[in-house]
Amino acid sequence: MVLKWDGHTHTNFCRHGSSSSMEEYLEQAIRLGFQRYTFSEHPPLPAGYIDDLPLMNQLAMKEEELPLYFDQARKAKERYEGRIETTIGLELDYLPEDPDFALRLVDKYGERLEDVVFSVHYLPGIGGNQCIDYTPETFMDKLIKYYGSMDKAAEEYYNHVEAAIEWAADLPCRKRIGHINLIEKFRLALPELDETLVTRRLNCILPKLAAAGAGVDVNTAGFRKPTCERAYVPEWFMGECLQRGIPLVFGSDSHKPEEVGSGWDWFEKTVAQASKRIGENLEKR
Ligand SMILES: [Zn+2]
Ligand SMILES: [Zn+2]
Repeated sequence: MVLKWDGHTHTNFCRHGSSSSMEEYLEQAIRLGFQRYTFSEHPPLPAGYIDDLPLMNQLAMKEEELPLYFDQARKAKERYEGRIETTIGLELDYLPEDPDFALRLVDKYGERLEDVVFSVHYLPGIGGNQCIDYTPETFMDKLIKYYGSMDKAAEEYYNHVEAAIEWAADLPCRKRIGHINLIEKFRLALPELDETLVTRRLNCILPKLAAAGAGVDVNTAGFRKPTCERAYVPEWFMGECLQRGIPLVFGSDSHKPEEVGSGWDWFEKTVAQASKRIGENLEKR
């Protein structure tokens, strides 16, 4: 039996999510029978990280909100003790210029993180750092035009993912790479990405994850995006992780309470099928 755990969720501190309270999210998780729930909000970004102030304000909370986030999360955790295990975390961006930026803020407010989802949401592009998951148009105009092709942009994305994994190896808490194939978010609206490139890069990443002691956020938000229609983690990759003992953690990436747990049935079924296959292969040997 797999622990019923939603390990990637957002809260009222997300400026591109809903204003529902943490309690509403937890109530929904309990209704669906979840045993563990992780708050993994986006922490503040360095000032001017993106050269677009209105967009910056949507992407992350302000520094003064971080202690309030921890405070509310701790209260919710205590209030729901015995009904659901709640863990306090963040979704840290890998920022190559200053990877420890958010960790210094966490230290400043004296918090100890229980869970970190570390993600690559930004790549250098035309006009500075650009979100890879904002719109297909900005991906085209600011990234594909910068790198020359979809495949070249994807190669650079996976370079950042690899650097993020190396950096995360030192984090003193449970950690997992967020939505490893986020680069596919607009796949149905952008030039086609070479599947063999994806397979090659993900295969090279497997030993790096194992060496870093990092898990995989099996992020189902892609199922909810009409430009993606698949999870951000391929099923074959999940099988490889199971084979190598790399933890798989379901993540709904919910930005509103109704999204909590969405895609869980697919996750549970895929893990069960892959585990069965591994068991059969072992018996054959
Ligand atoms: Zn978000
Ligand atoms: Zn994310």
